[in-house]
Parts: sequence; C-alpha cells; structure tokens
Amino acid sequence: MITADEVGFVSAAYAAAGSASGEATLRDHEDVTRELGAAGFQIVSTRGEDTARVPAGCPELPSELRDAVVVPGESRYQRVRSSYMAVGHPTAVVMARTENDVAAALAPHDFVLTSGNMGDTGVGGLATAGGLGYFARSQGMTLDRIERVRVLTADGQIRWVDATTDPELFWAVRGGATQAGIALDFVFRAQPLHTRAGNASVVHQGIQYLVDDLPRFTRDWGDWISQAPRELEGFLMVQAMGGGRFAARATNVWAGDDTGAATPTLRSALDLAGVMEQNAQVVPYVHVVPTPRSPHLGQQRIHMRDVLVDHANEEAGEAMAQALAHEATAVGELRALGGAVADVAVEDTAWAGRSQELLMGTWVHPVGLASEDESFAPLQAIGTGTYGAYSSDTRPAAAELAWPGATGERLRAVSDRVDPERRFDRGLVLPKLPVTAGA
Ligand SMILES: Cc1cc2nc3c(=O)[nH]c(=O)nc-3n(C[C@H](O)[C@H](O)[C@H](O)COP(=O)(O)OP(=O)(O)OC[C@H]3O[C@@H](n4cnc5c(N)ncnc54)[C@H](O)[C@@H]3O)c2cc1C
Repeated sequence: MITADEVGFVSAAYAAAGSASGEATLRDHEDVTRELGAAGFQIVSTRGEDTARVPAGCPELPSELRDAVVVPGESRYQRVRSSYMAVGHPTAVVMARTENDVAAALAPHDFVLTSGNMGDTGVGGLATAGGLGYFARSQGMTLDRIERVRVLTADGQIRWVDATTDPELFWAVRGGATQAGIALDFVFRAQPLHTRAGNASVVHQGIQYLVDDLPRFTRDWGDWISQAPRELEGFLMVQAMGGGRFAARATNVWAGDDTGAATPTLRSALDLAGVMEQNAQVVPYVHVVPTPRSPHLGQQRIHMRDVLVDHANEEAGEAMAQALAHEATAVGELRALGGAVADVAVEDTAWAGRSQELLMGTWVHPVGLASEDESFAPLQAIGTGTYGAYSSDTRPAAAELAWPGATGERLRAVSDRVDPERRFDRGLVLPKLPVTAGA
C-alpha cells in the first residue's frame, strides 16, 4: 500500500518505468509528480524482478523491458502465465511493477478513477479493453479517462501516444485490447468526488428483491436507472428460484457521500419489486471494490457470456428469464450503461458500445460449447454489441460484435500497421482478413 506522501496526485501500478515522452523523461515518482501532478494526472507503471531471454522468433526486446518480462523456462513463469479465468502459454509476460491499488492511492486525495468492480483485475487489461464499474454513468469507462499511454508494439518499438501523437494508435489502444500493443504506462485523468469526508466515499445500497415478473421488473428497473441522476450506477445479479420467481440482488452506488441528494433515488428503488432485505451506508470506495489478492491460476471454472442491449425493456427481461431457465446458466447479470458512457462518440475510441442502455450477461457452467451457446441464445439474439473482456467467448463472431463495422475496419488497419503478423493474439481479437486476389 502506498502512502499519501509517496503518491500525491500521481501514483503507480503498471509496466516498466523510464524512457522519454515528447517533452519529459518520466523516471520516478518525483519526475512524474513534477510533470503531471499539478494537472491531477495519474501514472500507472510496472517493473519485474529477473532478466528475461528474448523469445525465439520475436523481435529484440527493448532493453528497458528486459528485466520486466517473464518467459517460459523461468521458475516464476508458472505463476504468471494464467489469468483468473484461463491458463495460457504466452510467449512472454510483461510484469506489473507494483501491486499498489489505484483506488487506495487516490482515496486520501478524494479522487477516484472509474474502474471495474473487482480490485484484483489489472490496470492493463481493464484500461485497454474497457473498464465498466460503479462510476460508469458518472465518469464513463476506464479507457475514457486515459490521457496518454506508452505502448509496446509488436515490432519492439515503444512510444507514447495521445490525441496528437499517433492518434490512430491512441484510438486503438482505448478499447482494442491487446490488438494495438501492450500498454506499459498510462496517464489517467482521475476525478474528484468532493466528499464531505474527503476520502472518496460513496453511498452504497444493497437490495434483495423477490421478483415475480422478470420482464416487467427489467423494464421498470431500466426506466428507473435511466431517469436517475448520473451519480447513480446500478448492477443486478439475478437467479431463478423456480416457479417463475427470481431473486435479484441490486448493488447501487452513488458517486459521493451526499446522502441528501442520493436518498430520493435510492428510496424509489424500493418500489421496483418486493424487497426481502435492504441496506444503505456511506462507505469508502476502496471498501466497495474487493481486493483479495488471490493468485490467478485459471481457477474460475465458470464461463461468462455477455451482450450489450439497446433497451432495458420487457423483451430484454424475457430473454434473461429464458436464459436463466436453462440448466447451464448459473446466474444472470445486468449493468446500466448510458450517462457518461454514452457521452463519448462511437468513433472516438475503439470501444463501440456507446448507444446501448445495458450490459446483460450470464455466468454459465462449463458444460460444453453447444449447451453454453443454447443457454445464451435468447440474449445473444437481442445483443447489438459485446464487452469482449467480460466474456469467455473468443470466437471470431464475438470479435465482430465487439468491434462492428467501421470500428472493426479501423482497428484492423491499425493492427495491420503495428502487428501485421498478429503476434499479440491473446483473448478476443479480430481475425485477419484473407488477402483477396488482385488486392
Ligand atoms: C473476477 C473478475 C471480475 C471482473 N469485473 C469486471 C468489471 O467489473 N468491469 C470490467 O470492466 N471488467 C471486469 N472484468 C474483466 C476484466 O476487466 C478483464 O478480464 C481485464 O482484461 C483484466 O485485466 P488484467 O490486467 O488483469 O488482464 P489479464 O487477465 O492478465 O489479461 C487479460 C487480457 O488483457 C491483456 N492485457 C493485460 N495487460 C495488458 C496491457 N498492459 N496491454 C495490453 N493488453 C493487456 C492480456 O494480454 C489478455 O489478453 C472482470 C474480470 C474478472 C476475472
């Protein structure tokens, strides 16, 4: 854990340190503080422990990354080759420099950086793929808060990119996941919460609903959240109870500790269905995002599926009810989009889900692809997008849904330039288009 003295506005946590940007060499916290602190920026950095060999067939590793990379054959490779969801065989793993928590570093300054709802996920994957959490409606996605990013591309080049320096690569790294390159350092614009306590507290409400009519509840919940002030974000976890009834667990988070402003909206949430249990409290944001620091060994056997859906209406609720009726489905999930997520034009980043009202997902027992597909089919049918980093489906059709139309064409063009051999192929990636005769 870093202290306020070490951090200032500028703190730490992802890839290798050092190297020059256009105007400044950011070598350590002092440099970073001087260059960026006054502006309220945050830099996230990483560094490894041992020296790595250059993997056969790969471009020479930039010298500044040699001690940050772990390759097969090293003893620690076993510990770093897996994510939480999957065990892989990566050619090389760029190590995080520290395990410091961004939320904890910012809290003493009353700042937050919009993130996911799980503290153990890394900044790199979250910020390049999306970042959808409890501040989504008030602050947008994590990738929307990136001001600059230092990227390692597949040719071994390292460069800082932003809106004016290689804007296409900057566009692609925000939502294109691994396809643009490996993000080594980020400069984020964090936001103040202006809390009375000065410690980035939020109002947190948990409600356990008993739902008789899931389509109607989904519509009413959708109307409620879309009309709520942007400070509010709402997530729902839904389980079938049999007999056409559902248990829905709501987590509502109000950005800030102004209980007077939050109360009318939180109170009206109690009218959406039968309430079994309710609690609401002011709590520091760092306590809302659990950070158990479990080793990631591919231990999560449950598979995830998700789609982005245009409207939270009865049709969406009916599709969720059908998905939950399938024996492969463990639980369903709804997350509100809109607000600040929708403020960003679809062409501004490689994250294409700007117009949809919600993310709908299921956690699926690993019973085989055919059965998993069957269980998710009702939701798949109404999906107009997908959040690839939150899904286990890495097939080409899922990639086309994540990066549809013009977004996909543009992302492929960036990949063709910086990674023509598609060396960075982890997770969901757009397949390379076949070369046609005469092309
Ligand atoms: C338990 C759990 C809860 C989650 N909750 C949320 C949530 O609430 N909101 C949300 O938005 N997402 C959520 N996610 C999804 C999460 O954002 C992604 O899985 C994300 O990719 C994890 O980032 P990571 O750095 O831990 O990446 P890893 O799991 O290590 O890797 C995932 C992918 O990201 C790539 N990657 C990692 N670092 C970089 C980098 N620096 N540059 C380029 N590519 C990189 C990897 O190559 C790989 O393809 C959750 C995931 C899990 C497992």
